[in-house]
Amino acid sequence: MSAGVRVIAIDGPSGAGKSTVGRAVAERLGVGYLDTGAMYRAVTFAVLRRAVDPHDEAEVTEVASTVDLDIADVDGVTRVIVDGVDATQDIRGREVTESVSAVSAISAVRAELVRRQRDWVVEHGGGVVEGRDIGSVVFPDADLKLYVTASPRVRAERRVDEIGGDVDEVEASIIERDRKDSTRADSPLVEASGSTVLDTTGLDIEAVVSRVLEML
Ligand code: C5P
Repeated sequence: MSAGVRVIAIDGPSGAGKSTVGRAVAERLGVGYLDTGAMYRAVTFAVLRRAVDPHDEAEVTEVASTVDLDIADVDGVTRVIVDGVDATQDIRGREVTESVSAVSAISAVRAELVRRQRDWVVEHGGGVVEGRDIGSVVFPDADLKLYVTASPRVRAERRVDEIGGDVDEVEASIIERDRKDSTRADSPLVEASGSTVLDTTGLDIEAVVSRVLEML
């Protein structure tokens, strides 16, 4: 990060409200917003599309370093084009969601995507970056670090409100993905030092957004 480039890092488990908070902060500051989870999902989409085994480190790494990713936030939605194919919907589907933790546990994949994330920040002159390891690994010197969390039940209920499904099943899948993301060797999900923890359980996300905007 070069001097004068402002980065806001937002980390936390899935469905805790990171995107809502992140987009509101980016809008308020008039800066760009990057959803790094969409990048790991996009690589996973490419892996499945090329019929590669998500656990095959060498082949998955080859996909990560050759895939053409075009990621842009358009009207509050992260639009993702993978090798020229619009994957905006498919990256949120069950197949990608089930395989993304295996892909994101591969160190060489992380190194490649971290490099692309840092490039994005330089190109955009800073911004709001959301993920699991942003304040701990990607931008440890970020100007503001937030760790947004909520109970698995509440996160599952929010996800079901958005995209449907069975709450118990979604909750079980969230707990399993949290476990994998928090216990992997490389860049596990942790509260980065210096981060402000926001537990959104029982809170309206809009109230959380207001609190963060006040902090700024
Ligand atoms: O945020 P989202 O749930 O879309 O992220 C999908 C997956 O991508 C996570 O479960 C995690 O395995 C991976 N991820 C990561 N590091 C990030 C962002 C996401 O490992 N910075």
